[in-house]
Amino acid sequence: MPIVAVDDTDSREQGMCTTYVATRVAERLADAGGRVRRRLLVRLNPAVKHKTRGNAAVALHVSGVDAERAATVASETVAEFAAASDPRTSPGAVVADRDVDGDPFDPTGSPIPDAVARFARRALRERLSVAEAVELAEEHGFRHAAVGSAGGAGEAGAVTGRGRIGALAAVGAPAAFDDWTFERISYRELDRCGTPREVDAESLFAAADEGYPTVWDTVDREAGNAVCVPNAPGPILHGIRGDDATACRAVAAAVGGEPVERAATFLTNQGTDAHLAPGRVGDLRDGAGYRVAGTVASAPETKRGGHVHVDVASDAPGTGADGGKDADRLRAVAFAPTGRFRDRVRALRPGDRVTLCGEHEVRDDANGPESTLKLEKFAVRDLVRTAPAVPTCPDCGRSMSSAGSGQGYRCRDCGTSAPGKVAEPVERDLEAGWHEVPPSARRHVAKPLVRGGFDAPTHPER
Ligand code: ATP
Repeated sequence: MPIVAVDDTDSREQGMCTTYVATRVAERLADAGGRVRRRLLVRLNPAVKHKTRGNAAVALHVSGVDAERAATVASETVAEFAAASDPRTSPGAVVADRDVDGDPFDPTGSPIPDAVARFARRALRERLSVAEAVELAEEHGFRHAAVGSAGGAGEAGAVTGRGRIGALAAVGAPAAFDDWTFERISYRELDRCGTPREVDAESLFAAADEGYPTVWDTVDREAGNAVCVPNAPGPILHGIRGDDATACRAVAAAVGGEPVERAATFLTNQGTDAHLAPGRVGDLRDGAGYRVAGTVASAPETKRGGHVHVDVASDAPGTGADGGKDADRLRAVAFAPTGRFRDRVRALRPGDRVTLCGEHEVRDDANGPESTLKLEKFAVRDLVRTAPAVPTCPDCGRSMSSAGSGQGYRCRDCGTSAPGKVAEPVERDLEAGWHEVPPSARRHVAKPLVRGGFDAPTHPER
């Protein structure tokens, strides 16, 4: 009753897609007498540089076929379909002979070893090596293979079978994550790949409306984009995501367009924020996702290219790595493709208290390494509602003048005085609670606000 997992089968230029290859593996396992009970589409660390696009791996839970046969079918199918002539493609497969007839998601009775579950969790927030994946797979008696390794061997010094990292993480995923969503993926006829996709926009937008909010990120209503239709070459026609498999299938079935050659429903960790962990400004790792609390420390600035930057300081300054103030600052960035989300970031003011979510990156710029958070969403906890202003004279209503350094203000005409600046209300064009990037800028693993479960009011984008 094996778990059959594959990864790293596609190429940015040549297309292909690991979910497609896995779907073909599933068909062949069924032909060999197997029954595919579940298909898991597992997103891994979005910060991994060598990913093709979305850093996804797939695991199939199969019964009725033994692990050895399943491993042969997986290797042959991956070798046949993977874009292995691309030197950056490095396919890998892992087959775990574990009983998936029970409930592999049960945290107490899971057939998945704890160490493999831990590996899956780390694969979302760290950079792991093939050597570690291979060692762990062998420790637990899992079969593993570097498949059709023309790619892996094609580039001097390239790693072979790097896909085994993602494949092993996909094996461990059921015991690693407790929030799961669905995606119904419909595939094109293979000979159409590379040509423009024909999807009927009217039926798509209507189906997306019908399915919302159970089905989300199908379209970006405001921008008018079909988010579920990929731009990259490859066999996917559309992928419909949501909280319920039946609802996703219904939306997919209602979308008109070119013929769908095959389709499959995956259980996924997409839309779950599985990549985020609590962190503290001044104490964040490079290439990991965080939720961090802080106070806005600079006026937001729109830089060249339309990226919006804002500095955030730790709520507990002086406790960073070097104990100094600079270590306790983080530059949050809303990149240009996040579109209207940048208006929410621009509406922040120094002193606002926020929680930021995104991937942390240490960037080298002219002034040395800079701690940057690529914003996916943020919560406004407390808004600054007043600003210090020069007092007005209670008698004549005109602005007072400074009475000299440290001596407050006074009205030259009336002789009235005030001890210092006064707090004046400021208009704020930002609501308390969670704000997010629009669906068209969403990372696969990022949780849309519409899914709920947040600790403050939400302002979902759709
Ligand atoms: P696809 O469209 O097929 O899903 P992709 O964007 O997932 O493409 P891949 O071609 O699968 O990209 O490349 C990702 C590679 O990174 C795989 O070899 C995978 O094993 C590896 N990988 C995944 N997570 C990690 C990690 N945390 N550390 C190091 N390598 C990783």
